[in-house]
Amino acid sequence: MKAIKREEAVRLCLEGERISPAERKRLAAERLRELVSYAREHSAYYKKAYREVGEDFRLSDLPPVTKKELMADYGAWVTDSGVTEEGVRAYISSDAALETLYLGRYTALTTSGTTGNPMPMVRDAYHNMIHGALLQTRLLREVDPELMNPVRHKIASIIILDPAVSSYSGFLKSQRANPGYEQNMLAIYLTEDIDVIVEKLNRFQPDLVTGYPSILAVLGKAGQEGRLHIHPQAIACSAEMLTEKVYHTLRAAFGCPVLNNYCSTEGGEAAMSCSEGKFHVNEDWVIIESVDKDGRPVPEGSWSEGVYMTDLTNYVQPVIRYYMADRVRIVKEACPCGSSLPIMEICGREAETVEIGGKVLFSSSFEQALEHVPGVLAVQMAQKGERRFYIRLVPSSEEEREKAAEEVKKRILGLFEGSGAGPVEVTVVPERPKSNRRGGKVKFLVKEPEERKG
Ligand SMILES: [Zn+2]
Repeated sequence: MKAIKREEAVRLCLEGERISPAERKRLAAERLRELVSYAREHSAYYKKAYREVGEDFRLSDLPPVTKKELMADYGAWVTDSGVTEEGVRAYISSDAALETLYLGRYTALTTSGTTGNPMPMVRDAYHNMIHGALLQTRLLREVDPELMNPVRHKIASIIILDPAVSSYSGFLKSQRANPGYEQNMLAIYLTEDIDVIVEKLNRFQPDLVTGYPSILAVLGKAGQEGRLHIHPQAIACSAEMLTEKVYHTLRAAFGCPVLNNYCSTEGGEAAMSCSEGKFHVNEDWVIIESVDKDGRPVPEGSWSEGVYMTDLTNYVQPVIRYYMADRVRIVKEACPCGSSLPIMEICGREAETVEIGGKVLFSSSFEQALEHVPGVLAVQMAQKGERRFYIRLVPSSEEEREKAAEEVKKRILGLFEGSGAGPVEVTVVPERPKSNRRGGKVKFLVKEPEERKG
């Protein structure tokens, strides 16, 4: 297993930003060579996939991989034979996950999303050390690097209170790791009434507020209206993309740095926001290739259909040219913040909402709550009328359909109830999730208003 000390990881990350883009590319190429050589030796999957690839290869010579292919051959993919798909899944759903490492040496989590089978990922100490150093040196550069430490600071997180959701399990882990400081951490359920959330935050006076941009946008408005009076040192967003409008609302309302990162379970911390609200790619550690629908590179400045993600730090479950359906655009311009890391724009993860009886609910709340329903591979929520919803789902087997449908319906109704939106009608229909255009991505929330007759 590859090992690195904290100070060394921090030094490499600082240095990686100081050097020229050409030097950085050379460094990334060297790291790729080392990772590929390790993967060929220890992963039966890559050994086979790269059998035609010579010693002197370019990145584009390596065949891309998809989640489906990797999942089908999970045991061959990982480089540690002790790691199994069932083992990781069992570990993640156990209480032990909050206190111990998987097999005593790995962190583990599953991919999120309501339109696909969650994929268990393990990360080794090398990945965790480098990505931790990236957070410290590049995301938290404007603020106290100890800001996420509950021993020193008060942290409020507005999230889904379900331990199967990674933001909440992360919260619980941090709480358990710092006994005696539990009162410095406050978790608020994001579907609570906005006035209640505002009141809780006013009482708690956090140094750091974390949550989804959708809920933070509402809080920014409350701050501007003078109802919310907190003075955090930073606001940190996760999961969805922050629009420039929300970014500036938050900055104006709280006058503190607004932190956002583009990360994934598969690729880790790929890009991070700077003081100007732009995303900079950590290209010395994570390679992002923007590609069209056939996997061909798109020119700089054009929107991609997807990306190939390569994480140069994960040696236990190597992610090399892994396809993700995110639309991005690499922009060639100098950033006023001074960083020479490339700027990337990201499209398509913005918040969507459902409005009922004057209440605004975020589609991400539903997605989060439905992420880990046993027996469900994909689910879609279609709004047919103001208070009428159809649910379409793909069960992992027909025998599980009924039970899965019941659980999905229960969770959706629970969220509506908690929001105070009043009665709604939710029907699970025997249809597959629909994509809006041929071959298009299946969206979780779709609006299909029925035409009224007469
Ligand atoms: Zn910048």
